[in-house]
Amino acid sequence: MKKIGVLTSGGDAPGMNAAIRAVVRAGIYNQLEVMGISRGYAGLINGEIEKMELSSVGDIIHKGGTILKTARCDQFKTEAGRKQAINVLNVYGIEGLIVIGGDGSFQGAEKLSQDGINTIGIPGTIDNDLAYTDYTVGFDTAVNTVLDAITKIRDTSTSHEKATIIEVMGRNCGDIALYAGLAGGAESILVPEESFDIDDVCKKIVQGKSRGKLHNIIMLAEGTGNAFELQKEIFTRIGVEARVTVLGFIQRGGNPTAFDRLLASRMGAKAVEYLIGGKSGVAIGMKDNKIIHMPIQEALSEEKEFDGEMYKLTGVLSL
Ligand code: ADP
Repeated sequence: MKKIGVLTSGGDAPGMNAAIRAVVRAGIYNQLEVMGISRGYAGLINGEIEKMELSSVGDIIHKGGTILKTARCDQFKTEAGRKQAINVLNVYGIEGLIVIGGDGSFQGAEKLSQDGINTIGIPGTIDNDLAYTDYTVGFDTAVNTVLDAITKIRDTSTSHEKATIIEVMGRNCGDIALYAGLAGGAESILVPEESFDIDDVCKKIVQGKSRGKLHNIIMLAEGTGNAFELQKEIFTRIGVEARVTVLGFIQRGGNPTAFDRLLASRMGAKAVEYLIGGKSGVAIGMKDNKIIHMPIQEALSEEKEFDGEMYKLTGVLSL
């Protein structure tokens, strides 16, 4: 193998740049030519491709976002779109492709692999919704961003003696709410994986008030429901006006944490190693702090296991 390509696709995540850097540097270290493909699969179809040098990835390890930009591309979901993408890869002489993205991007990579292009996936998404890996690149940074927000909201919440609902991202995965909520000392954590009773949430607010608690933080994962609906429900039941903060895209940005930079660096280098070794249709992951790999199909068919024990702990610690 002489020439490989790298792209970022789907939702951006902090640490994607560190992964690009690792792919480029490990590729060049191994005498490969590395081509950077801009705007995900859309850029691939349109031939937005440039050769990457060692210096192309200088000074980016600490930066959020992705220097290659990212996009969603419906055309790539069609056979005709993928055919065009393969033509472009052939014209450029790109023999292997590393895709940094979430489950949708992985599905695209798997299809390319079936069509004979060697592809490797690196999990880049803040949601941590890929079951086969303990962590995805960007998750830890997002958790820390949310934690920082909780700390600030707690100050004003305490001063005004108010209950606060903080809605966070994660699609159908409650990990951001769980990790940040537990670390931030939230009173209630509502996630799609666990059923909950609004009366319990209300009871916590009332009990907290009666023992002199100055605030009550309710973490709401976006896949669980709407923060404003919850606010209404609470008011109807106990007459307490909770404040709502929907954190939104702030969670996607920011400098990646040390954890995400290390994860991205290790995964990027491993992806290059596997491409050189002739592997294809493979997802890189991390289990028990070891970098692992498995077929993308198998990786995507695994069902995410929610950490019930950690969830229960939130109930114990927020008494
Ligand atoms: P993420 O990778 O963050 O989950 P998306 O689900 O939006 O983000 O997927 C990113 C891109 O991957 C899509 O815009 C599309 O180009 C490609 N993709 C997603 N699903 C498929 C699929 N089933 N087949 C081929 N390509 C896909």
